[in-house]
Amino acid sequence: MKNEILGIHHITAIASDAKKNYNFYTGILGLRLIKKTVNFDDPHTYHFYYGDEKGSPGSILTFFPWEGIQAGRRGTKQVTEIGYSVPAGSLEFWQERFDQHNIIYNKPSVKFGERYLTFLDPDGLKFEMTEAKKTDTRPQWQTSEVDKLNAVHGFHHITITTNKMEDTAAVLTQIFGFKMTESEVNRFRFVTDAVEYAAIVDLVEAPGEAIGHVAGGSVHHVAFRVEDEESLMYFREKIVDFGLNITEKIDRNYFYSLYFREPGGVLFELATDNPGFTVDETLEELGTNLKLPVQYESIREEIEGILPNLN
Ligand code: ZN
Repeated sequence: MKNEILGIHHITAIASDAKKNYNFYTGILGLRLIKKTVNFDDPHTYHFYYGDEKGSPGSILTFFPWEGIQAGRRGTKQVTEIGYSVPAGSLEFWQERFDQHNIIYNKPSVKFGERYLTFLDPDGLKFEMTEAKKTDTRPQWQTSEVDKLNAVHGFHHITITTNKMEDTAAVLTQIFGFKMTESEVNRFRFVTDAVEYAAIVDLVEAPGEAIGHVAGGSVHHVAFRVEDEESLMYFREKIVDFGLNITEKIDRNYFYSLYFREPGGVLFELATDNPGFTVDETLEELGTNLKLPVQYESIREEIEGILPNLN
């Protein structure tokens, strides 16, 4: 596992309404809120983390809900779709559920031999649920409405849209150890065999497509997973040697990170498995308390007064 990129760690996106976002992801999609904290650079904004029971890397979707932020636009230099893996035969359940809750979706379709369903979250963020060919054995978080016959397992893939894919492809293959395995029309699939799941990045090459605008309903960045800080620093050196700018190591309380913009224009992060989400709450308690980084504990009351109520 050492010095390998272990697929996707987490994906961070932007929402325009904290309460709507919370209701959609915990209620309709049936994910677990595993951490409720604030944006470390903007403590008057929430930072929500949704995932499986433990917040396993490869299942973690996070949001900055900036109240009332304008809508972004999908385009190049962005992660334009987030793919979840769901059990075989569950797409009918999801269509019915989306009908009941007025969620926008398309009829199931097939790519790379797998059936998938496209849908949008309340801010227009685009998702796919894929019935993966290979049975996904990752344990699911279940709710009273979404049981294990239908619940998501974690990420299946992400899609990046680009005018010309070669620069992004070079980072994936030469630094991250992914290989291009197949293509369909203008979609090129890159996969790592370092992990079984959350191991796919699709590059969609769209020469005429305009640059996207990152705002409400857009992905802010994607984080790739490394085992620990030693591995993190190994990749830092590799990225510097490749000629790219990268930040210093940052302590995000639940993982350590580095950020760099890949030459295709998407913000990439590398994030460690350690220490994980149980560092400041028990497994049972995850997501139930507002957790603040130590520098903001002294203004907790002020922060709690400003953050929107979720109930
Ligand atoms: Zn991140």
